[in-house]
Amino acid sequence: MEKIKGLRCRECGRASPAAPHHVCEFCFGPLEVDYHYENLQRIVTRARIEAGPPSIWRYKDLLPIDGEVTLGHHVGFTPIIRSRNLAEEWGLKELWVKNDSVCHPTWSFKDRVVSVAVIKAREFGFDTVACASTGNLANSVAAHAAEARLRSYIFIPADLEQGKIVGTLIYNPTLVAVEGNYDEVNRLCSEVADKYRWAFVNISIRPFYSEGSKTYGFEIFEQLGWRAPKHIVIPCAGGSLLAKVWKALKEWKALGLIEDAGTRIHAAQALGCGPIVTAIKHKTDVLVPVRPNTIAKSLAIGNPADGYYAVKAVKESGGWAEHASDEEVLEGMELLARTEGIFTETAGGVTVAATKKLIEQGIIPRDESVVLSITGMGAKTQEALSGRLPETMTIRPSLAAFDQALAEWKTKHYIN
Ligand SMILES: *Cc1c(COP(=O)(O)O)cnc(C)c1O
Ligand SMILES: [Zn+2]
Repeated sequence: MEKIKGLRCRECGRASPAAPHHVCEFCFGPLEVDYHYENLQRIVTRARIEAGPPSIWRYKDLLPIDGEVTLGHHVGFTPIIRSRNLAEEWGLKELWVKNDSVCHPTWSFKDRVVSVAVIKAREFGFDTVACASTGNLANSVAAHAAEARLRSYIFIPADLEQGKIVGTLIYNPTLVAVEGNYDEVNRLCSEVADKYRWAFVNISIRPFYSEGSKTYGFEIFEQLGWRAPKHIVIPCAGGSLLAKVWKALKEWKALGLIEDAGTRIHAAQALGCGPIVTAIKHKTDVLVPVRPNTIAKSLAIGNPADGYYAVKAVKESGGWAEHASDEEVLEGMELLARTEGIFTETAGGVTVAATKKLIEQGIIPRDESVVLSITGMGAKTQEALSGRLPETMTIRPSLAAFDQALAEWKTKHYIN
């Protein structure tokens, strides 16, 4: 069965062959992968998906890979958790946590996009992959390049968290720390991509890369029992995840895999870098780039590549958006850990904080189903929590020492 039609310009609609390109030759609009949906209509069924592997590859029919899956066999199919404690705290009837903080192999949703992109890079015959990253992408590209035995060049802002740097270097890539913010790194990478024949996963082969984000949505719908929730709150950096979850929803409705549930998609960003959320709140689709200043470094993109499409998706779905200050981000991380036992990174704190505000404003009604998008792991952004964690009870190794410390602890913390 032929499934990939080619690339299509999102602005002028012109078709072009499936090649390592990302902008339209005619109008410079971004390109998107187009499929032979009439063929997919005939073969894609719930039963066929359920018979697939417990990974993103159960959705391979809807991903832009021609041949076999050659790496990243265990990516995705992360848990969706029915929240009881946080739901109770917020007075919600039905709250779910889609937990990509445990995505294999590098603990963020970026493994979904990168595994697709690196397989595609090999199909196109590249021997080197590269990326401009805010951290998680760096981890994932380095890991998948190692598995694929490809060379990798990873470009990051020099001030990233230690967990993100170590979690990249362990795979032995060439790590280029650029003294500038992500937008400056990205601009540099566009020039590097023009000069060197490397597959920049989020630039030169971005149309293929971003399709991997759809699997986050597919999993939510399948894991909720082939049903879309009423609300999904999604953190945005470049805006690709949000735009592609919307595409996933439209594809599955068109293929008859799920019913229309009137799902509203809400965007979450940090106050110190929230151009997508600002545009939504101002009811405009004109994005004003900002200079990032936030602890949510994985979301710190001041000029988001898919920002316009993220705004459009939120608008089409009838969703809304919220910012989170750095203090609210930290409270969000602590709240999710305290109530659900899930340690997410700063981006997850943004989602939790934004969701809380959307509920308080009545934009998310308390009797409707909600999915919180947790996209990354807390152990990678430990410095954000410095000075905020509870003290440790430190003792000599004797029962008497413990008894005494326990008594003091209970008095101090008012525990019976
Ligand atoms: C990259 C990233 C996002 C947002 O991704 P975009 O598709 O660029 O909007 C969200 N959460 C985490 C943890 C990320 O690393
Ligand atoms: Zn065009």
